[in-house]
Amino acid sequence: MSTEQSKDQIDSAAPSSVEAETLGFQTEARQLLKLMIHSLYSNREIFLRELISNASDAIDKLRFKAIEHPELIADDADYAITLGFDAEARTLSLSDNGIGMTRQEVIDHLGTIARSGTAEFISQLTGDQQKDAALIGQFGVGFYSAFIVADEVEVFSRAAGTEQGTRWCSSGEDTFTVEDAADLPRGTRVVLHLKPDASEFADGVRLRSVIRKYSDHIGVPVRLPGEASEDAENEGDAPKLEVVNSARALWTRSRTDISEDEYKAFYKHVSHDFEDPLTWSHNRVEGKLEYTSLLFVPKRAPFDLWNREIPRGLKLYVQRVFIMDDAEQFLPLYLRFIKGIVDSSDLPLNVSREILQQDDRIVTIRNALTKRVLSMLQTMADKEPEEYQAFWDEFGEVLKEGAGEDFSNRDALLKLLRTASTHDADPQKRVSLDAYLERMVEGQDSIYYLVADSLEGAKSSPLLEVFRDRGIEVLLFFDRIDEWLMSSIGEYDGKSFVDVTRADLKLPGEDGKEDEEDEAADDPLTERIGAVLTEQVDKVRRSKRLKESPACLVLGEFDLGPQMRRIMEASGQQLPSSKPQFEYNPDHPLIQRLEAEPDEDRFGELVLVLFDQARLASGELPEDAGAYVDRLNRLLITLLSD
Ligand code: ADP
Repeated sequence: MSTEQSKDQIDSAAPSSVEAETLGFQTEARQLLKLMIHSLYSNREIFLRELISNASDAIDKLRFKAIEHPELIADDADYAITLGFDAEARTLSLSDNGIGMTRQEVIDHLGTIARSGTAEFISQLTGDQQKDAALIGQFGVGFYSAFIVADEVEVFSRAAGTEQGTRWCSSGEDTFTVEDAADLPRGTRVVLHLKPDASEFADGVRLRSVIRKYSDHIGVPVRLPGEASEDAENEGDAPKLEVVNSARALWTRSRTDISEDEYKAFYKHVSHDFEDPLTWSHNRVEGKLEYTSLLFVPKRAPFDLWNREIPRGLKLYVQRVFIMDDAEQFLPLYLRFIKGIVDSSDLPLNVSREILQQDDRIVTIRNALTKRVLSMLQTMADKEPEEYQAFWDEFGEVLKEGAGEDFSNRDALLKLLRTASTHDADPQKRVSLDAYLERMVEGQDSIYYLVADSLEGAKSSPLLEVFRDRGIEVLLFFDRIDEWLMSSIGEYDGKSFVDVTRADLKLPGEDGKEDEEDEAADDPLTERIGAVLTEQVDKVRRSKRLKESPACLVLGEFDLGPQMRRIMEASGQQLPSSKPQFEYNPDHPLIQRLEAEPDEDRFGELVLVLFDQARLASGELPEDAGAYVDRLNRLLITLLSD
């Protein structure tokens, strides 16, 4: 949520006094709250992780601000998160002495969801609790998760450097109340009035175990009243506090001292994801530049992966001080799904986004981190092919952007590429280019591929017949991005990519002269067909690639394929019209019958039917569907009456 979202998003009731006002949650916030409470019921304890995470972020923000404004922490420089509970009253409180919020910030941050695309996201939710829980996990649950366990939540907050405190209160339904509150310490205290069935969270043992599980890595002490002070003896005294977590930023520890569970918990803290990460890589680099990175690959793509405008990037720390979220300069756009942190010892504490954009050191770190991610993915691909396939299913299309854009890492990205193939009957299975190279037939020095609108469309293309006949594998592509991708990469491992939809197809063992010979041969049937299709096609010729089908359409060497054409037309570009080439199979009975047809009208009708069928086979509709059906029916009638 961000501060930019203004009050007019909130349908506010006129405040009766400046002091107290009741406001309505923004519609999206209200919907999300409701869904969250229902979907996350089976994993309730995560609310604590979310609230501790917010408290630690608030402390990080103040720590950063206090570098330039030390007066902000003159009252209290001992950062900590403190929990308190009362089993009888069924309350749990969480206090931090972080940056706090002003009244307006309380209203904006806790009453609205500013993330773009939220309404769209909510419309995807199905009502199926399990599915929704996974989706909400990707969205990030945040502060509202308090309402999973509480039927009323109070927030007391005073922003660092201000005098006036604010109290916010809501039962998580339609409205919340805000009013001034006096004598608050700096920072934020969240008080949960627990639901009757959530009383377990007003218990020291339970809290301690949840904190250790989820928040051990938080770089601030998380304190609970010590066990001794829970005894009656101490009643009346201020409870003695015990630090429950290890309070050392996780990435500063040595890899061998960190358990898998700790990495997973830390991932959830930085990503707000619900699920475990797929894999991660933790590295310290020493030398000219010194920095530590901890990079995670999520299991699932976020709902807004395709929105290139959304904030993305790593959390940036300088010498362990949090500097900013979403530092996008450390990874290329096509790795926008990576979560994690980078902690540099060389950057100045007052580094800004502008500086990040210009600094050479950032370019060096970015190049190194990019390689690091790609090699982490390659390791997964080598060691855990099934997990890698799951990764590819989620993020493959984004990596393809990289293979098209990032010239310096193209080979590594192509090595990571997976796609369908004629050599795999399983429609879910994807193959690598390396696997393709291993299966090439004798004399083959090209990688053959076909781009279509769907896998089914690709598999049934007549253009594959000769390849099937000769046992040559063809890679099948059907993502929106594929034609662009394939047109921007020339070769892999010294082997060029060859589009099987092109007219000048060269098969293994051919030197390309055959075409010229074919074309030189005077062929009356070719001319006769050409006379019928003058409007529709650029050229007619005998095919050497068809085995079962009578005819197909192919493209000239430099023609745009249908996918690119559609994308460019959709973006409003005027394209020159281009005509395909028509290939016919002289051995097919229909063509032989055609050749023997003395009646020119019937000949013409049949050719037009074959042409439209060839369009259908390449995934396009006949130009005039009605005329096609009429023609076919006329032919069927003559056939039936013969
Ligand atoms: P997120 O943390 O993902 O932004 P949340 O719903 O958890 O979303 O919180 C919304 C916003 O409320 C935060 O971005 C932050 O600005 C503010 N906030 C939440 N908790 C605190 C806190 N303890 N101290 C200061 N600000 C807070």
